Amino acid sequence: MKINYQEVENYSYAKYIYELEKLCHIHKIDMEIIGYEEFEKIGEKYPLYRITVNPKAAKRVCIVAGVQAYEIAGPLCMLEIFSNPHEMLSSQVSYRIYPCINPTSFDLRQRMDDDGVDLNELTPQTLHGRKYGEVKVFYDDIKDWEMDIFISLHEDVDLKEFYAYVFENNPEPVYRKIIDRWRNDFYGVLNDKEIYGDKVVDGLIINDHDNSFEDYLFTNKMAKLAICTETPGLLPLENRVRMDIDNVRILSEHLID
Ligand SMILES: [Zn+2]
Repeated sequence: MKINYQEVENYSYAKYIYELEKLCHIHKIDMEIIGYEEFEKIGEKYPLYRITVNPKAAKRVCIVAGVQAYEIAGPLCMLEIFSNPHEMLSSQVSYRIYPCINPTSFDLRQRMDDDGVDLNELTPQTLHGRKYGEVKVFYDDIKDWEMDIFISLHEDVDLKEFYAYVFENNPEPVYRKIIDRWRNDFYGVLNDKEIYGDKVVDGLIINDHDNSFEDYLFTNKMAKLAICTETPGLLPLENRVRMDIDNVRILSEHLID
């Protein structure tokens, strides 16, 4: 599939899933429904999906896209990845990919879901909260699957530069490799020493306990490494998708070096 970025920018969730399912079918990749989010105001049930690739491979990577799904590059990069999965993904890595965990926010093109909550909260409270059903569906699906790397694909819609939230016990080279990758490409890496009150060291915000998915999974030892990438929303969509694909590749290659 040759992607027309002007067209996919305006995709509904239905159209996105329709195209993604076609691609998975062509490549005999398993895409299944793991739960539903009910959008009560319009009387619709939105299915939530997991895509499973190379389930028997020894190394494990979990990718979540669309936690705040107005950040569309994360979800939409899956159309590119599954157009050519054998090229884009490593055959030595087992992937669990959640192509859009917040479909109502994707359709509304807003940060919050249909219940008005920011879904990037994975805590004992939200796992029991009535408004965070999508988080619970994800967590129930992943909780027994210890992973080598957890990746959450986000965007900073207001920025031109790249940065990332990372979790580590010791300085982890692969995170610095990602920063080096973008240092001189597009508009480079965030130069500021602080963003939204958090300290930034050469484009990385390190071990920030913000109750995000990546914080919870790393802190509870469900993921050995955890990263939230922030592609710059002020770049054209095609470039942000390229960044997501390259970041997934760099992180995957790190496991098989
Ligand atoms: Zn985000």
